[in-house]
Amino acid sequence: MLNRLIAGTLPLLPKRFVWLFSRSYIAGETVDDAMAACTDLNAAGIKTTIDILGEFIRNMDEAKKNCEEYLALIDVAQRHGIDGNYSVKPTMFGLLIDAESCYGHLREIVARAAGHGNFIRIDMEDSGCVDLELDVFRRLKTEFPENVGLVLQAYLRRTRDDLKALMDLHTPSVPLNFRLCKGIYAEPGRIAYQRRDEINAHFLQDLEFMFQNGVYPGIATHDRALVDGALALIDRYQVARDGYEFQMLYGVTPELRRTIIEAGHTMRVYVPYGRHWFGYSTRRLKENPKIVNSILKSILLKK
Ligand SMILES: Cc1cc2nc3c(=O)[nH]c(=O)nc-3n(C[C@H](O)[C@H](O)[C@H](O)COP(=O)(O)OP(=O)(O)OC[C@H]3O[C@@H](n4cnc5c(N)ncnc54)[C@H](O)[C@@H]3O)c2cc1C
Repeated sequence: MLNRLIAGTLPLLPKRFVWLFSRSYIAGETVDDAMAACTDLNAAGIKTTIDILGEFIRNMDEAKKNCEEYLALIDVAQRHGIDGNYSVKPTMFGLLIDAESCYGHLREIVARAAGHGNFIRIDMEDSGCVDLELDVFRRLKTEFPENVGLVLQAYLRRTRDDLKALMDLHTPSVPLNFRLCKGIYAEPGRIAYQRRDEINAHFLQDLEFMFQNGVYPGIATHDRALVDGALALIDRYQVARDGYEFQMLYGVTPELRRTIIEAGHTMRVYVPYGRHWFGYSTRRLKENPKIVNSILKSILLKK
């Protein structure tokens, strides 16, 4: 109840105050802020994936601007020698307005990254976007086998079937590269598992499927039980160190992150930045009031 109240009230508060809640998990407003955050992370032996905050847009002019911003970001980050790749949300490029133009923008972004030998991860958004995002991924993966990956959400009832169906794109020389996460959107029970134990069980089953089939997973979680479960699977399947990576969000559970790095595993941090941090933060909080707790904890423990 209290979380819901705080999450609902935040959008009404002065931006400066909301920044107190947001600053620990957003790199800043500008590309320079993102470069500074990534440089620090790289210096600590952590790879990055950079995300420009945005999401839902009103028209295709905004989609074009977002595309240009990503193209510029890629050039800047490559110039800075950042050890990291990029994450994109297709709705920022008009997925729900004009799917074909959206595909055109994403293709341009993947082509730019590919030109630098780099990689674009397509984030998975809410359940209304899943079919469209699978389709975009399929087309891009066919043209740029080494330069594009997707996110799969363990809470979706359909995910195992999606995973199996995507295996036709897999080859041992260029494995599929999927980030596996729990899923952040509020989805109804007919679409998504609701209980934590169910979601966690499916997360580990999906991960096991990936290891059994040679898929490269980005194990995206801050849940210690899942990290331990993933480590047990890595051990059971004797997965080489370059056959997977762990991923975490910027500013979240730095202690757990440190123990994973110190044990010699690859870690990548998701670095969001951009002018739209306010809408992004308040929307995320409203969607999932439970993270108020986590955010408060991370502010209190960090400062
Ligand atoms: C790199 C990365 C990329 C992601 N990409 C997507 C995506 O494309 N689509 C999608 O639907 N979801 C995405 N997510 C979000 C994911 O689906 C989960 O909602 C989120 O990671 C929380 O789940 P958890 O596994 O960390 O476990 P939880 O049980 O939710 O969290 C475990 C602990 O981690 C801490 N924690 C978790 N999240 C936060 C937070 N935001 N702030 C502060 N502390 C926190 C808390 O201490 C919590 O107790 C991504 C997550 C990561 C790490």
